[in-house]
Amino acid sequence: MSKMTDWQWKETMIQGCDMIDEFLKELERPVINLAVVGMTASNSRYRELEPIRYPAYAFGRMGSSNRKFRTEAGLSCMEEITMDSRRHILARVAVFFLLVLGVKLWAADRVLVLQQQTRDPKTGAPTLAKKTIDPSKTAVIIIDPWNFHWCMTACQRVASMAPRWNRALECARKLGMQVIWAPTEVASMYAGMPQRERAAAVPLIEVPELRKLVAKFTAPGGGCMCGPGISCEVNYGADGIAPALVIDPNDLIVSGRQETYSILKHKGLDYIIYMGLHTNVCLFGRPEALKSMYEAGLDCVLARDLNDAITLYDPQQPYTPDDGTAQTDSDLEKAGIPTINFVDEMRKVGLWNSDWVVDSVRLAPWGTVARPYFFEEATRVALTCPWPKDVEIRYTLDGSAPAATSKIYAKPFPLRETTTLRAAAFRHGRKVSLEGRGFYARLGPVPPQPDVYLDQIEPIKESYPWWFSFWHPVFNRSFEGKKLLMRGRIYDKGVGMRAPANLRYGLKPEYDRFVARVGVDGNLRHAPPADYGLFVDKVPSEPGGEGMGEMFAQQPSVQFRLFIDGEMVAESPVMRFSQEPWRFDVKIPPGSRLLNLTVTDAGSRSVLDLADWADAGFVLKNAANPK
Ligand SMILES: [Zn+2]
Repeated sequence: MSKMTDWQWKETMIQGCDMIDEFLKELERPVINLAVVGMTASNSRYRELEPIRYPAYAFGRMGSSNRKFRTEAGLSCMEEITMDSRRHILARVAVFFLLVLGVKLWAADRVLVLQQQTRDPKTGAPTLAKKTIDPSKTAVIIIDPWNFHWCMTACQRVASMAPRWNRALECARKLGMQVIWAPTEVASMYAGMPQRERAAAVPLIEVPELRKLVAKFTAPGGGCMCGPGISCEVNYGADGIAPALVIDPNDLIVSGRQETYSILKHKGLDYIIYMGLHTNVCLFGRPEALKSMYEAGLDCVLARDLNDAITLYDPQQPYTPDDGTAQTDSDLEKAGIPTINFVDEMRKVGLWNSDWVVDSVRLAPWGTVARPYFFEEATRVALTCPWPKDVEIRYTLDGSAPAATSKIYAKPFPLRETTTLRAAAFRHGRKVSLEGRGFYARLGPVPPQPDVYLDQIEPIKESYPWWFSFWHPVFNRSFEGKKLLMRGRIYDKGVGMRAPANLRYGLKPEYDRFVARVGVDGNLRHAPPADYGLFVDKVPSEPGGEGMGEMFAQQPSVQFRLFIDGEMVAESPVMRFSQEPWRFDVKIPPGSRLLNLTVTDAGSRSVLDLADWADAGFVLKNAANPK
């Protein structure tokens, strides 16, 4: 389309300024130039219109332009406003509240004036500067918006940011920006999707090395974001982009430095807005990411409201992952990388609807029912809400929905029992955020070793056909015949199962308790990747070529349940890869006949739902020497 046809015009006659406001709100695209023509235009309330909302409004009286506003806007707006004679006449006869508007709507090839922020490398003092960009020459690159992260707090934070990101990307597309997804390791999962195929077909051009970018990240980190207590183990279980994120048909999905650079060059995209995660690792250092494209000479900025760093959580300070992200963003600003508040920019051009509720209260640590956070005696939970500002966070611990009368959050507080936590932000008694919901499960004490292990007694035969409709439990080995392994520890005694499965035992009067440590079998991590179809000999990051559960670690989910005479007497939470084993120590009521050890697939069938019962068996009554 030519420049002129990109401009859209709306012309209307409106009585009174309040109606003009209404009219502007109804427009789908932001008003970039607004010409007010009429008898009273020069002294109308338009002078008071918030310049942020109408960054380039211009006034005219009887069709004449106002040079002051035109110059400020940096646009030749009035030249393109043509008035036919009929409208001139109308304007002339208009009574004092009758206005004729020519409203010029945002066009893809028009400029946007952003406020960029950098910091003095020594003092950290922020510097604000205006930056004029052409949205049609702008890319938004999202780094590693994975559907799974080994740290459950990190994973939940991504999920909680998705609504804000979706709306922000919607706005970016409306402005004509090119949205580019860079899911790095898992880009191959998008083979066959047009967004990936269009990107992969780009003619490659050499990437120049024009400058260096050095950033010093100062936020404490290095482990998981869950804080003190049981930490998440590193693995690479992601196999795609977070399902809550919306990929548009016109977006691109890229892989690798040269491909990314080539696309930007071929499309003439020279202003790159980075978002995604983690700011201090992948968003900075990946081949598709900020450092790489900056060094190739492209103008790169960070959306400081659309990223997350991986840092630590310290409830004592308190220091939350949001503090870590803010600190990391300012480290980048000190390194000379400007940041923008993307949502604020969209608000300025009228694209952001302030009625959108897109942010949730964030929790640290952050487990869910589907992937619970385990703790031993107590854990301290922090609640944060970076957006919206000036809110009260209120929460409940009894599973009920947070209300304006719920307990107000002041600082990290302890949980000592298995708890469902729900939190939301309120302003003047009105809920202004999405809900943040967490699930925290308290582990019981470590059970003693059994006196009678399961391999020493015979289970009861099942009535369904054993040879076909049942995965056979394996004694003292994992279901796959490997050593029983959970969170790096090998167990000699126990049972390996593939869920769903069970083992039923007749109970003897001398049995006092059933004990076991249970969880997802950990061999997925150490299996040669080829076992699971990954055709690599060695995973370079791991000594000895041991895998990290690549693209699979998110899949196993099982739940253990104990039944005595048909009644459930104990169950584990949903168990995921690398969880600390759940602890069973269950008293057997006198006169009980049957114990059924069951494992369910927790609602999602997977061939990787491999469950281990370790050190499982019976503690006897009056045992001479309890172990
Ligand atoms: Zn974690």
